[in-house]
Amino acid sequence: MDGARVDGLGERIRGRREDLVALTQDLIRIPTINPPGDAYTVCCDYLRRRLAARGFDCALIRGDGAPGDSDRFPRTNIVARWDSGRPGPTVHFNSHIDVVEVGPGWTVEPFGGLLRDGKIYGRGACDMKGGLAASIIAVEALIDSGLPLVGALEISGTVDEETGGYGGVAYLAERGFFSPPRVDHVIIPEPLNVDRICLGHRGVWWAEIETRGRIAHGSMPFLGDSAIRHMGAFLHALEDELYPKLAARRTAMPVAPEGARASTLNINSLHGGLDEGFDGFPSAVVAHSCRIVLDRRYLIEETVEEVRGEVVDLLDRLARERPGFAYALKELWTVSPTMTDRDAPVVRAVGAEIERVLGKKPEPVVSPGTYDQKHVARLGRLRDCIAYGPGILDLAHQPDEYVEVEAMLQSAHVMAAAAYRLLTGDLPSGSPF
Ligand SMILES: [Zn+2]
Repeated sequence: MDGARVDGLGERIRGRREDLVALTQDLIRIPTINPPGDAYTVCCDYLRRRLAARGFDCALIRGDGAPGDSDRFPRTNIVARWDSGRPGPTVHFNSHIDVVEVGPGWTVEPFGGLLRDGKIYGRGACDMKGGLAASIIAVEALIDSGLPLVGALEISGTVDEETGGYGGVAYLAERGFFSPPRVDHVIIPEPLNVDRICLGHRGVWWAEIETRGRIAHGSMPFLGDSAIRHMGAFLHALEDELYPKLAARRTAMPVAPEGARASTLNINSLHGGLDEGFDGFPSAVVAHSCRIVLDRRYLIEETVEEVRGEVVDLLDRLARERPGFAYALKELWTVSPTMTDRDAPVVRAVGAEIERVLGKKPEPVVSPGTYDQKHVARLGRLRDCIAYGPGILDLAHQPDEYVEVEAMLQSAHVMAAAAYRLLTGDLPSGSPF
């Protein structure tokens, strides 16, 4: 590798500190709250103005007909491409531009972009406008560096990651934007800390289960059949049988935090009997319906058939053994677990640069929840994808969310130098971990 000139990248990026801060603040000040999916076009127009002026080909692409898409709230994405004019691979940086609602507890203006003590505050500062800004500075610095570049660099700002990504990365992946030959390597600058490489995420299985009973007068419940008691029997079975089994099931995935290295099950909601919105005096009825939503997160060692099967087995046994037990199961959402190989090219490139720039070994992690990598893997069929970016994941979605300027500078340096390695094929052998 061209040592001296690559080292110049760090200085070049540090020289852009003010630009990086201003860019991050500008992005935070555009309140791209999702839901409903506000100001997406404003944000993409801002990015287009900046990147087009620096020689990128920019396309604004609307996720037509995606969930939530409307003329009032169009699902506008931007894909910006800079081509060196010489044959070579494409390195793509993908960031979601949507942020979650503000919520209570803030002590600073959520869309003010306050800079204080080396931290920039605001909703989306860490998740993930700081990462987007860092990747833009990284790519611009690399282009301006005078290093002999081949291939192409891409930056995308995509929507709806916080609500499944269907109008964003999924929409684009279905249209070839995240597949070879257009793209070879993808880095998603989610807030995973500057020294960690996120290889993927656990799987998801969401299902609604309804138990059914028979309505009757509440003073004579024996004349009816309570759907809530049937659900109680199912909840018991979950407590006594499924929860211990899941807790004992450990994974080889390096999921962080540690507690998520097992299979997990959250009961998302539970409702039975009279309507929840009703605040008058209740009437005396036996509940004829009770519903719960299960949020099951599963491991790469499990299949979705097994995950579904162990719930259905419990329900079927209750149906055999418990008089009157009847149920319906509706699957709501499934995401396969995904994990990039520890010696994949993008892992080796970013790993080598974390070690060189930060002077420490990178740490592999896997996310307990999913993010847009699922669409890159399944729809784009592109395996060479990681999440790597500045910020502390625990701050995501919290009040007084912030990103540290120093972490953005460090990660931008790693991103720029790693992209250069990927473009030129200068990769160390073996896994960096
Ligand atoms: Zn995020």
